[in-house]
Amino acid sequence: AHSLKDKTVALFGLGGSGIATAQAIMAGGARVLAWDDNPASVERANAAGIPTGDLRQADWKDFSSFVLSPGVPLTHPRPHWTVDIARAAGVEIIGDIEMFVRERTRSAPDSPFIAITGTNGKSTTTALIAHIVKSSDRDVQLGGNIGTAVMTLDPPARDKYYVVECSSYQIDLAPSINPTAGILLNLTPDHLDRHGTMQHYADIKERLVAGSDTAIVGVDDSYCAGIADRLERAGKTIIRISKRQTLADGLFANGPKLMRSGGGTVEELVSLEGIGSLRGEHNAQNALAAIAACLAVGLGVEEIRDGLKSFPGLAHRMEQVARRGKVLFVNDSKATNADAAAPALSSFERIYWIAGGLPKEGGIASLSGFFPRIAKAYLIGEAAPQFAATLGEAAPYEISGTIAAAVQHAARDAAEDGVAEPVVLLSPACASFDQFQNFEKRGEAFREAVMAVGTGSD
Ligand code: ADP
Repeated sequence: AHSLKDKTVALFGLGGSGIATAQAIMAGGARVLAWDDNPASVERANAAGIPTGDLRQADWKDFSSFVLSPGVPLTHPRPHWTVDIARAAGVEIIGDIEMFVRERTRSAPDSPFIAITGTNGKSTTTALIAHIVKSSDRDVQLGGNIGTAVMTLDPPARDKYYVVECSSYQIDLAPSINPTAGILLNLTPDHLDRHGTMQHYADIKERLVAGSDTAIVGVDDSYCAGIADRLERAGKTIIRISKRQTLADGLFANGPKLMRSGGGTVEELVSLEGIGSLRGEHNAQNALAAIAACLAVGLGVEEIRDGLKSFPGLAHRMEQVARRGKVLFVNDSKATNADAAAPALSSFERIYWIAGGLPKEGGIASLSGFFPRIAKAYLIGEAAPQFAATLGEAAPYEISGTIAAAVQHAARDAAEDGVAEPVVLLSPACASFDQFQNFEKRGEAFREAVMAVGTGSD
């Protein structure tokens, strides 16, 4: 972070990315004063050699910038206290992605930089792009919201490909974001608790594509379609993608076939047939976006095709955990609400569905269109009685209680099913916290239970 050399930066939020960012700022020759509302985080930062101090008592005239962690509210429901102080002192408020962007613009503006945002599918698309770039023998630097703080990646260099997942909080804190290729996958009302209105949320997401050399926009929802039209009118290079409409100019899905059209011609780029990790219409959207971005940074169609075919998928997102005989076991533990469970339920025909946990508002009523696909439901956790009532006569169910019992029973029932590919699917449509620390732990419990089923039978 040489652009900050000899400056002093205030930083708030000392989770993993906050600590990494503070260290990177210091490594670049700047001073840091860091703070957090949680004393344990302050202690951890001290142990890591980061100077800390209560920012209420600090002299803000000393600070050139204020770096805020993406988890800390900038606007909604009300600005964090540090935001009020920074604004009053006239100190700019930025995030770690802004620091990365400035460094790249300064030292390696030609380095390929792909940024990904949207309501759903960010991590899958980000991981897929990184996988394709890596399989083509290029140096990929993967980070952002997906896990690795951007400031811990290799410093910007011409031959390094940066693939960065951006939450709306991170975009809000990155006013100069300028990717080579920016992706806006989709926009649906979610996280409004953090952003107030849908319009505000959409405006933030739009900034990422507005700042891109090539803007890649999924046009299957009305917000994104409007954004694409607006950017085009403003003279931007736009690539539209659609998982369900034929486009005269853009990339679209025709069943499993991914097509490119333009100038009156249409060609097939690749077929997703048989690529298990990219099953489902939603993954067609993710794959189209990934292809468009890889093309925009100069990869060839052939290498993109090879990368897609070897993508292993992400854990806990429609992850194919095992096959026992004809029964497929799928871990979709990341589906923590009904909306997130819909793609998995729409991707399989005959489902032994493990659902439940800590219920969200609305329960599973919105999923009733999928109930005819449910061979049987295995209900776990606190939501079980409520989900049982919603299922009613629409699908058979049992109250299994735990994941282990649910997997055991579902595996037994599915093995006796006559269809070609019965699926035991964990797609809980609930938070996990009644029985697990997080959705990852829940997915691991599923995997372990599935492995236990496998012993002996085949
Ligand atoms: P994010 O990082 O945006 O939370 P993920 O890639 O982790 O998204 O996917 C989370 C869940 O969202 C998946 O398990 C799937 O059910 C659903 N999903 C993935 N991609 C899409 C998409 N393009 N549109 C709608 N839902 C999606």
